[in-house]
Formats: sequence, structure tokens, C-alpha cells
Amino acid sequence: MEKIPYKIYLEENELPKAWYNLRADMKNKPAPLLNPKTLKPMSFEELTPVFCDDLVRQELDDATPFFEIPDEILSFYKMYRPSPLVRAYFLEKALDTPAKIYYKFEGNNTSGSHKLNSAIAQAYYAKQQGLKGVTTETGAGQWGTALSMACSYFDLDCKVFMVKVSYEQKPFRREVMRTYGAAVTPSPSETTQVGKRILKAHPDTPGSLGCAISEAVEAATSTPGYRYVLGSVLNQVLLHQSIIGLETKAALDKYGIKPDVIIGCAGGGSNLGGLISPFMGEKLRGEADYRFIAVEPASCPSFTRGKFAYDFCDTGMMCPLAKMYTLGSNFIPSANHAGGLRYHGMSSVLSQLYHDKLLEAVAVEQTSVFEAAELFARVEGTLPAPESSHAIRAAIDEALKCKETGKEETIVFGLTGTGYFDMTAYEKYNNGVMTDTIPTDEELQEGLRTLPNINL
Ligand SMILES: *Cc1c(COP(=O)(O)O)cnc(C)c1O
Repeated sequence: MEKIPYKIYLEENELPKAWYNLRADMKNKPAPLLNPKTLKPMSFEELTPVFCDDLVRQELDDATPFFEIPDEILSFYKMYRPSPLVRAYFLEKALDTPAKIYYKFEGNNTSGSHKLNSAIAQAYYAKQQGLKGVTTETGAGQWGTALSMACSYFDLDCKVFMVKVSYEQKPFRREVMRTYGAAVTPSPSETTQVGKRILKAHPDTPGSLGCAISEAVEAATSTPGYRYVLGSVLNQVLLHQSIIGLETKAALDKYGIKPDVIIGCAGGGSNLGGLISPFMGEKLRGEADYRFIAVEPASCPSFTRGKFAYDFCDTGMMCPLAKMYTLGSNFIPSANHAGGLRYHGMSSVLSQLYHDKLLEAVAVEQTSVFEAAELFARVEGTLPAPESSHAIRAAIDEALKCKETGKEETIVFGLTGTGYFDMTAYEKYNNGVMTDTIPTDEELQEGLRTLPNINL
């Protein structure tokens, strides 16, 4: 057997030419988005005032297995893809484990994360439709950064509503977005009706993703020539992110490697959904078996402590209802939670898979996440994003189990991005002042009480 190189690269001509739509192979399809007023599935006509036409087609299509990637998107992908699949020889050695660990590294572009894979697709379809610009929300700033890069490539306006606390705490992310030409507004703001309403009720709110989504949707639907785009959760985003899994599979196949466990962090579910999609497809078709693990923060535990129910995607309750594992649309994780992954809900594709027990989930505490992040940085070299480090934590835990059992499992995890803009969180950890806040059952009940009362 050929020795596995430290980095497995695909050739440029081995770049996947089509995205894979996992929904096509799901027996239990994810539940449709519902109109909150009629409780009927959202139609194409109802969604297109908010989203670009072609993206709505992708969103609603749960039958077509492959979508060809347009040439213009492929040529953009070529600037930073294929991304490397790395054999974590140094981490294996540090852990003294018989496990073989691989990670797919998505941080190798200026935005520093996988989000660019979908940003460029969404900007492309907006341009194709002849739109003037797009609006969106961003939390920690990775999505806003990715979208600004994509919009500047296609010469589109980009209006970003950035969660206020991040706007203040992450001035560098904000400046990267402005450097690529985006207009960045702290949310909640006085520029929208919903922002004004929220500010009136909670003048000192640090903002939340759910609230910034409401503002971005309002800005898009009230400005001619604009549509709203979203960096995670939606089916279309998982479709675009399937590029991660397709490349991973192609790289592993090159060396005849079959993973036992595939691990990813889960915020809204897009990187995990993308990474696992071709492997989950094989599992669903009965061709192969794998374990899949979603890793979420203990301070925002949608899968492990949330409810599988129809819920609003935003705080302003303007967006359609999605059936997902959720903590309630007004849930806001504790302010001392540093690691991203703060959205109250989860992709409905992953929610259905989890409900059907095809996907496992674990919740991990942030101090243990940063411990894993630091070990990883020291032995593998790359400074990981806190979000990605949730997956590192779980991969290390699996590898340590292998050490006990002597099993030579092959573990693949998604290293979604780099952490250069997260040094305040690292500083807290290094100063020994980082704490773990896990919501009590009572606190979670508070959020779940706001779930709309729909029995479907
Ligand atoms: C946004 C982000 C995530 C989480 O989002 P998903 O949609 O769950 O993938 C994870 N890692 C990084 C680096 C991110 O920027």
C-alpha cells in the first residue's frame, strides 16, 4: 500500500462538476417550509420575492440528485479549490492513538471558511437574474466576509446586517467586508421597521442572528432589485457545500481509504451537511455504512436538547416556518459563549436525518473545545476557528477511545476555517478566564415556549 501523503490534493480537472443533492436519496424527505399564515408549503411564487429564482428552484427540489456547477462558479472555485485533505499524522502521534485521522481544510481562502463555497453560488444566481444587490446577516462575520468577496467578484451590492455585539467586538471582520465593498450595519438598527421595534422593546440588546435575519429580509423585500441570501441552514446551502464532501470522497477513493466516522461541527448545519452528503447518500442507498457525528456547543444545544418542531427561522417571525431541531426563535446563547455556532435552529435535512437516527450528535463545552484547538494548533500548525474546534474536540475524543479499545478506526473531520479573528476568545482561554455556561432546563423551556403551536 502506497504511503498516504500528508496532504492529499486532487488535480484541478478532478474538481467535482456537479453538486450532489442528498434529499434525492432520502426516504423521509425534510419537511417543507411553511407559510406562517396559511400553514401551507411555501410555493415558488411565495419564495421568489425573498430569494433568487434559481436558488428557490434548488431549495424546493428534493428529487434531482445532481446540479451541474455553472462554469463561472467553477472558475471561481479554482482560485482556492480543491481544498486539501490532510492526514493528521502529528495529531495521531501526539495522542498516541491507533486511529487514522484526516481533516478537510476549508480555511484556505481570504474569508477563512467554507462559507465562500455557497456565497459565490448565491451571488452568481443573483447576477444571472439581473439583480442590483443582496442583503444578509452575519454573526461572527465569516458569512458576511465570504459574501462580500463573492459580490465584489460579480459586481453586486452587498448589504450586511452584523449582530451588534460582533460589530463592536470584531472590528477587523467588519473592515474586511468594507474592503470588499460591502455596507455593514450593526443589528438591530434604526434602518428597518423590525429593527426599530426590537430596539424599542430591548434598547440594550447585543443583537442576535435571528434578529439580524429579520432586518436583512425586510431590507431585501422593501428595496427593488434586491434579494436576501443566507449562509447556512437552507437546503440550497447544503447543496452548494456538497463540494466539500464530494472532494473528500474523491481524495479518499484515490487511495482506497474508507472512513469509519465522519465528524463536523454544527451551527446551521451547512458544512456538516456538505461534508457527509456523498457518504450519507451511500448509506441511504445501502451501499456502505458510516457513523456521522454532529458536534454542537453545550451552550447552544439544538440537536441534543432542542425539540423537533416547526419554528420560525428569525426573531421577527417574518420568515417561513421550518421543521427542525430548535431551541426556539428567541433563544440567545449566553454572552460568554465565544465559539460561534449560535443559531437557535438546524438544517431541516440534518434534523430529519438525526430524527431518523442516521446521524449522531454530541454537545461539548467551550473550555474543552479550546483545549483541543490549542493542541491542534501546536501539533498540526493551523490555528483553527473556534467553530471548527468543536469537530477537533470530538475527533480527538473518538481517537482516544480507539486508544483504549485498540481499534484502528479511520476518522475524517471538517476543519471549516481559521481562527485569526477570534483571538479575544483565545486570549480568554490563555488567561484562564474562559468559563462554560450551560443553559438550565428552565432557561431552555423559556425559548421552547415560543414555538408556534403546529401539530404536523
Ligand atoms: C459559519 C461557520 C460554521 C458553522 O456553520 P455551519 O452552517 O453549521 O457549517 C463552522 N465553522 C466556521 C469556520 C464557520 O464560519
